[in-house]
Amino acid sequence: MPKKRKNSGKNKSGKDGFVQCAKCGRAVPRSKAKRITKRVRIAEPQIERELRQAGAILPRATRSMWYCVSCAVHGHVVNIRSDSNRKNKDRLR
Ligand SMILES: [Zn+2]
Repeated sequence: MPKKRKNSGKNKSGKDGFVQCAKCGRAVPRSKAKRITKRVRIAEPQIERELRQAGAILPRATRSMWYCVSCAVHGHVVNIRSDSNRKNKDRLR
């Protein structure tokens, strides 16, 4: 069967262990999984607004999540690229 990608979407090493998908829980090779880093609020929005009005400076936590390819495509984390565009090795997004 022909392969869509020469490296099956993974890095060269292949011995980098597995991570768990944040959405479906599937074990994905670390080099294949898509990592998303988000800045999330610590408090509820209304409480945060009140605290900010009172003069408090609230930090935002950084949370990174790993997604399997299926969930990343389904959740529009990455987009499906054309055959020629797929050769582009630049960082996505
Ligand atoms: Zn998943």
